Amino acid sequence: MAKQPMLKFVTVERDMPEKRGADTRNKDFDEIYAEFAKAKAEEQASRCSQCGVPYCQSHCPLHNNIPDWLKLTATGRLQEAYEVSQATNTFPEICGRICPQDRLCEGNCVIEQSGHGTVTIGAVEKYITDTAWEEGWVKTITPALERDQSVGIIGAGPGGLAAADALRRAGVQVTVYDRYDRAGGLLTYGIPGFKLEKDVVMRRIEQLEKSGVEFVLNCNVGEDLSFDAIRGKHDAVLIATGVYKTRDLTGPGSGADGIVRAIDYLTASNKASNFGDEVPEFTSGELNAKGKKVVVIGGGDTAMDCVRTAIRQGAESVKCLYRRDRANMPGSQREVQNAEEEGVEFVWLSAPKAFAGDSVSSVTVQKMRLGAPDASGRQSPEVIEGADYVEDADLVIKALGFEPEDLPTLWGQPELAVTRWGTIRAEYGTGKTSLDGVYAVGDIVRGASLVVWAIRDGRDCATAMLDYLNNGAEAVAAE
Ligand SMILES: Cc1cc2nc3c(=O)[nH]c(=O)nc-3n(C[C@H](O)[C@H](O)[C@H](O)COP(=O)(O)OP(=O)(O)OC[C@H]3O[C@@H](n4cnc5c(N)ncnc54)[C@H](O)[C@@H]3O)c2cc1C
Ligand code: SF4
Repeated sequence: MAKQPMLKFVTVERDMPEKRGADTRNKDFDEIYAEFAKAKAEEQASRCSQCGVPYCQSHCPLHNNIPDWLKLTATGRLQEAYEVSQATNTFPEICGRICPQDRLCEGNCVIEQSGHGTVTIGAVEKYITDTAWEEGWVKTITPALERDQSVGIIGAGPGGLAAADALRRAGVQVTVYDRYDRAGGLLTYGIPGFKLEKDVVMRRIEQLEKSGVEFVLNCNVGEDLSFDAIRGKHDAVLIATGVYKTRDLTGPGSGADGIVRAIDYLTASNKASNFGDEVPEFTSGELNAKGKKVVVIGGGDTAMDCVRTAIRQGAESVKCLYRRDRANMPGSQREVQNAEEEGVEFVWLSAPKAFAGDSVSSVTVQKMRLGAPDASGRQSPEVIEGADYVEDADLVIKALGFEPEDLPTLWGQPELAVTRWGTIRAEYGTGKTSLDGVYAVGDIVRGASLVVWAIRDGRDCATAMLDYLNNGAEAVAAE
């Protein structure tokens, strides 16, 4: 009888790829985890219990066929593992790097529940597709049939790009418009290189370009080109613009110089440190933490990326103020641990009250405690009177979350229905909006969310758009 290649979780311990030491990694923007060696990937994949009801799969937004590609990896059939993996995920190597696996696939792994430590699903997914790139298994798209129909996609983030890929495979002519000078959305300019190196994103963009997707960059729709012009030019339009309006600080002095938006800070860092671009605000020090006392306000993943960027830029000190405690923060615990290892200090149960200086010099910090749960069941932070103190700061970064821009007004489209939060109202599973032939996906529909959900939306929406294009074509033929 053949030797059982799987179920090794009893004898093989969970192991992540090697993490670089904090004292080395906190000086550069390279990824912090190494790649698995082949034998290690096979060993870790072999821990999967191949359970009858794979909760990892049902908790992956893409319903990736995880047990199958783990088994193929464990048995050395890597090209087949790649084929299975890419069948449900447009960018598996990106998700493998940046999905919050502890809340999705790995957090629901059955052997994790039984106390053996989850299979390292994300790291194996990354390994499979990085190997596929090295081996030349990732091919440019050559549709079996070219169609005359075209789709205009506004926004080159993961949502727009996942749809572009699927539509191009079906032979549709695809043009992607973006206001940035590079495609990739937050993959390129939001998420820092130490989580996702930029060549990993850029090779995907090149692959799409070579596959015939046209990119129109430096094109702010609503300013450089009207939404109506795009609608007039294409048979269908997809809105995938993400959410970029920063939630603001209030309180005395909150408009001082030196108090900056997280997205501006991270974009400048990504451009200057990862692409080597000349960024005047970075060179002048306005958006650069070098030598500064930095205070970051917020407790989500954006705040984690800001504190860890500031450390790498050579800040004198980096503190993160969050109004709840560690257990109640929205950011990933794995990232908090990484940040602490790199030298970030978290000041839990604290919020800014006021800022001193025309150019900020300090923050008055209010101490908080957790009170009664609110309607959502989450404990609300309450101020502890008389416990304020002053924290020196010469760079304050606002990382309090993002809201949608008012697209109906900005684009002169009052008929484009939005929710009470300002996100676009789109049908679940298809992305259909209130305008005929106009679809929407990703953060602009969900509010600030995750890359893997944007990919899922983009793929689902491409299927719906193809139906729309096919029915339109049939109607013309019938006439
Ligand atoms: C700092 C940060 C870190 C994050 N870390 C993670 C993480 O680790 N893991 C994870 O899963 N998710 C993370 N996220 C969330 C994730 O990046 C988003 O959920 C995801 O990128 C949304 O994809 P999208 O395609 O909807 O939008 P985006 O990625 O935001 O792309 C939208 C694109 O639309 C363009 N655009 C907007 N308006 C216009 C216009 N008028 N004209 C032309 N172009 C326009 C923008 O320039 C942008 O390129 C992070 C987010 C931030 C801000
Ligand atoms: S896409 Fe994300 S959630 Fe799904 S298997 Fe990969 S890492 Fe896990």
